[in-house]
Amino acid sequence: KSVVAIVGRPNVGKSTIFNRLVGERISIVENTPGVTRDRIYAEAEWLNTMFNIIDTGGIDISDEPLIVQVREQAQIAIEESDVIVFLVNGREGITAADEEVAKILYKSNKPVVLGVNKVDNYEMQDLLYEFYALGFGQPFPISGTHGLGLGDLLDEAVKHFPTEEQPPEDDDRIRFSLIGRPNVGKSSLVNTLLGEERVIVSNIAGTTKDAIDTDFEKDDREFTIIDTAGMRKRGKVYESTEKYSVLRALKAIERSDVVLVVLDAEEGIIEQDKKIAGYAHEAGKAIVIVVNKWDAVEKSQDTMREFEQEVRQKFQYLSYAPIIFLSAKTKKRIHTLLPIVIEVGENHAKRVKTNLLNEVIEDALAINPTPSIKGQKLKILYTTQVATKPPTFVVFVNDPELMHFTFERFLENRIREAFGFVGTPIKIYARQRK
Ligand code: GDP
Repeated sequence: KSVVAIVGRPNVGKSTIFNRLVGERISIVENTPGVTRDRIYAEAEWLNTMFNIIDTGGIDISDEPLIVQVREQAQIAIEESDVIVFLVNGREGITAADEEVAKILYKSNKPVVLGVNKVDNYEMQDLLYEFYALGFGQPFPISGTHGLGLGDLLDEAVKHFPTEEQPPEDDDRIRFSLIGRPNVGKSSLVNTLLGEERVIVSNIAGTTKDAIDTDFEKDDREFTIIDTAGMRKRGKVYESTEKYSVLRALKAIERSDVVLVVLDAEEGIIEQDKKIAGYAHEAGKAIVIVVNKWDAVEKSQDTMREFEQEVRQKFQYLSYAPIIFLSAKTKKRIHTLLPIVIEVGENHAKRVKTNLLNEVIEDALAINPTPSIKGQKLKILYTTQVATKPPTFVVFVNDPELMHFTFERFLENRIREAFGFVGTPIKIYARQRK
């Protein structure tokens, strides 16, 4: 998916525009229990094209002087995005900070679409002319508060989207990434994995813009590690983005089938871990929770069980994800990792037969009849799996409004029990049968 970044000095209206473009999607995202997310990165859609959008204004480096802030945000936008929407304030004209941003963007050779915000009505169009001086061609008048002009701006942005390189869908190579906050041991794990016996690394050179992909083979299975950890450890921008390495993690997640959420046994679980795991969950990827540095923990008989309970309690929405305890350093239980990756990867790609599925649903209904709301009873006519990665089911019903989420959860559990979807989220949608 292409990435659009919104940049501009403070108060030109970046967040307003961001929220407009993202529309109601952001609230859908926030409905996921246990997940809070920074409002800086979201999915949006225009003309049937899905893209990701970043509000660089949401990247909090506010302890820095203004000019440093705008510079760094512009730099982040350049690194992270395919198209940049450069936002200025029509009512204030060009300021020194705008010129600073322009200078950086100009050098980057990234496509830039210039949006002039706060042009709330046609009489204000004259304000546009001075912005030609910024050197990005035609300025697009918009009004964040009134939602005007965004269509034309997006039309222009979409024109600059790169053509997508689609990974071949049908091979059974498993693509996975390791995500987690700095220092949990992601790089160490990658090195240990690749150093394992009988692992044949075939290609490390596949460096893409966002990540370093390593292809390898073990026991005739093919894997790709999408590694974001070792990237660009340099410079000021790196440090400020490190706080938000989240952006990079998100892109790795998007390209993965399986995500290993890496925790540090020594340090325990902190808020940032939850946030990072939440992204993988929302993206619908298969997930394994990896507790690294298990060697460094002083253990009694119950230590593992207690840690596991803590993980379960803090990541309630990841109840489907297996947990493994290992050590990149001593290599203890490292050999269990790839088998689990294979298992959850296969579940993520699994397709179940429609007749079996409907038998399972029928049996489920025999145990637990469908609910009624205001005297109206839910009727389930037919269920089918419409997609994989993650497995997605459509239940055809008399009225989707009658599908209460507790009942949906019940169906999910029955489907999981029957078909063994360990490690993968599954999605269920109720549709009215025509
Ligand atoms: P990353 O930032 O997540 O890639 O973390 P690194 O792989 O750079 O590891 C951070 C630090 O943790 C390094 O000092 C590692 O040596 C150490 N480390 C990594 N894995 C283990 C482990 O299993 N046990 C112990 N005791 N230390 C580890």
